[in-house]
Amino acid sequence: MATLRLVLGDQLRDDISALQGINKETDFVLMAEVNAEASYVKHHKKKIAFLFSAMRHFARSLRDDGYNVTYIDYDHKHNKGALFKQVQWFCEKHAVDDVVVTHPGEHRLLQDMQAWQDTLDKPVEIRADNRFLVSQDFFADWAEGKKQYRMEFFYREVRKKTGYLMEAGEPAGGKWNYDSQNREPMPKNHSVPDPTTFKPDDETQAVIDLVAKHFDDHFGSLENFHFAVTRNDALVVLNEFIEQRLPDFGQYQDAMVTGEPWMFHSHISFYLNCGLLRVEEVVEQAIIAYDSGQAPLNSVEGFVRQVIGWREYIRGFYWYFMPDLASQNALQATRKLPELFWTADTDMFCLQQCVQETKDNAYAHHIQRLMVLGNFLLLSGVDPKWVNEWYLIVYADAYEWVEMPNVSSMILYADDGMLASKPYAASGSYINKMSDYCKNCHYSVKEKTGTQACPFNYLYWHFIDRHKEKLQDNPRMAMIYRTLSKMDPKQVQHMLEDADAFLSKLDANEKV
Ligand SMILES: Cc1cc2nc3c(=O)[nH]c(=O)nc-3n(C[C@H](O)[C@H](O)[C@H](O)COP(=O)(O)OP(=O)(O)OC[C@H]3O[C@@H](n4cnc5c(N)ncnc54)[C@H](O)[C@@H]3O)c2cc1C
Ligand code: SF4
Repeated sequence: MATLRLVLGDQLRDDISALQGINKETDFVLMAEVNAEASYVKHHKKKIAFLFSAMRHFARSLRDDGYNVTYIDYDHKHNKGALFKQVQWFCEKHAVDDVVVTHPGEHRLLQDMQAWQDTLDKPVEIRADNRFLVSQDFFADWAEGKKQYRMEFFYREVRKKTGYLMEAGEPAGGKWNYDSQNREPMPKNHSVPDPTTFKPDDETQAVIDLVAKHFDDHFGSLENFHFAVTRNDALVVLNEFIEQRLPDFGQYQDAMVTGEPWMFHSHISFYLNCGLLRVEEVVEQAIIAYDSGQAPLNSVEGFVRQVIGWREYIRGFYWYFMPDLASQNALQATRKLPELFWTADTDMFCLQQCVQETKDNAYAHHIQRLMVLGNFLLLSGVDPKWVNEWYLIVYADAYEWVEMPNVSSMILYADDGMLASKPYAASGSYINKMSDYCKNCHYSVKEKTGTQACPFNYLYWHFIDRHKEKLQDNPRMAMIYRTLSKMDPKQVQHMLEDADAFLSKLDANEKV
């Protein structure tokens, strides 16, 4: 009896469910760098280089541990270009009785895999994904019967279930959430530690060359590739975050600074999402830092909430609401994606910075993704289809299970409020408060109308005005609509006209 165990590029851990119970003498492990997965959207070059290199290093570590691994690299003469074809090819060459895979992170791939059994004419077992703390059923049980699905309440259930940051059944320090002590802008002259970086080894360099050759037309730069590609190096990233950044993480987690893409964030999403790091070790290390007095509770709780709250919630939300989530568009947004999202060619300094950093690093931190890039796409009414595609392409941590709820539900309100109690819409003053971007900008954040006015200002009121019917009864929007009703109608008219003119320029692909 021989089982084929397929390991995907985001399942790089030796206890992944597909490998559990393996018989190293008789079973096969298959891994493949297939074109279909690398190019069904034109992923950032660094993202492909990162994943191919991490896959190669992981395959080597499995072989060193005695597993019988067949690794099909991109240029392999038997590379079939798609996962199923590769599995089929393997089964034709070897006496395979059944196939075992771990539940993939994308709905389209799950549907594909569910059909494999019939075509292969042998059992295909799809095992639960063990890269998360809680199961899809845990989310479904929590969500059952609810009309609104707020992360904060889900997070409390995960805290209670896991016991993380709980003391005698109560939240550590007496409160579930310490965000009132967070969200500070960065003071001048407060220095940010350098990110943890690694020089590419020969294998990684070979992959970088391969990506340069085959994926030249994809978005993003391959220069200065410095990601960890092994579990040991990913653990170094985690340790250095805990030591150097975690103490300031909470306070400055929403801050943005020109030329500082990495700030006090952890930069572990790449590694968590492809299996090199485990949720439990990440959270437990942060809690040890709190227990030993190395990091304050507002930072540790804030970080733990991102990992066991937001990340687990987003994943549960995706599977609970798919496939409907993919087509939702509650605000009926139809605009195409502005070209500046590919080029960074804009006079809006905040956008220029965030797009350029995304191109350079395949990374932007949460507030850049949410309150600069996302906010602009929301206010401009860009179609969720194009926004989802962009976010899936450009970040090295992007997989549909995590990208789509963040995009469709969090930034675009396309789900009509199932995730967020109101749209994350903001004028330029939010960006001005949380960053130093505005002082370098061609536009003036203080001005509401006219050629020098910050586009976020008039786009904000255009958004509020055009969605009045849908949003005015939302209690969390009531104050904004009261403010709108008290504003000078001439000024409102002027802002709406400026916004229309701006959006026309955007559509005509003129520089804004
Ligand atoms: C529009 C948009 C798109 C996003 N797309 C992705 C994506 O494709 N992949 C991705 O991993 N994250 C995504 N996020 C969430 C978040 O921005 C990134 O996880 C984070 O920026 C990664 O950097 P970090 O590891 O330094 O995170 P930190 O700020 O240090 O946070 C720690 C960890 O918490 C988790 N986390 C925090 N917020 C979220 C969230 N909203 N959803 C899921 N996990 C979260 C991540 O695993 C992250 O590594 C998106 C957010 C927005 C607003
Ligand atoms: S003025 Fe407006 S466009 Fe310019 S950086 Fe500030 S928020 Fe961005």
